[in-house]
Amino acid sequence: MAKLIFTYGAMNAGKTTYLLQVAHNYESWGLKPLVFTYEGCDDKGSCRSRLGISRKSEIFNKEYSFLDVEVSNVAVILIDEAQFLTNKQVFDLCRIASLKGVPVMCYGLRTSWQAHVFEGSSALLGLADELREIRTICKCGKKATMARRIAPSAGTADEDIGQDKYVSVCRKCWFTYHDGEEQT
Ligand SMILES: [Zn+2]
Repeated sequence: MAKLIFTYGAMNAGKTTYLLQVAHNYESWGLKPLVFTYEGCDDKGSCRSRLGISRKSEIFNKEYSFLDVEVSNVAVILIDEAQFLTNKQVFDLCRIASLKGVPVMCYGLRTSWQAHVFEGSSALLGLADELREIRTICKCGKKATMARRIAPSAGTADEDIGQDKYVSVCRKCWFTYHDGEEQT
């Protein structure tokens, strides 16, 4: 049985960079990776890392059916922005791993900047065969696990994750910021 793996990390931890490296590793052995990113998070049909590297990718949205994807010649399915998967899509990806024998590697955030667990992340945390963490650090030097919004004019939805609107912080700094904000 192939595995479904969820690799999570805070913003700017390098999740997309890792994904692109894994895709490259498969291709270097002549194996075909199938890369997906979320509609609206793509860069003109590409999956782009903040380090500047990118590759053409498939686009998924909430209605996308992974079960309809032809996977007979696919060695691995790689999904960026996996927090935006629906519960059903995560189940379908489990079906692909378990029944079709294609490994699925998902990369995403656990929580929004408001500390809400995303639907896709919740399902992945519960169902993945393996959980991996990519770490990054807060400005104070501790491990960053939360996102702090730095663009006040940004939207208020959890899904609003524009790349330049947030920084990753540790939980202590997150509480300091949010508790301070609520008092004003
Ligand atoms: Zn901190």
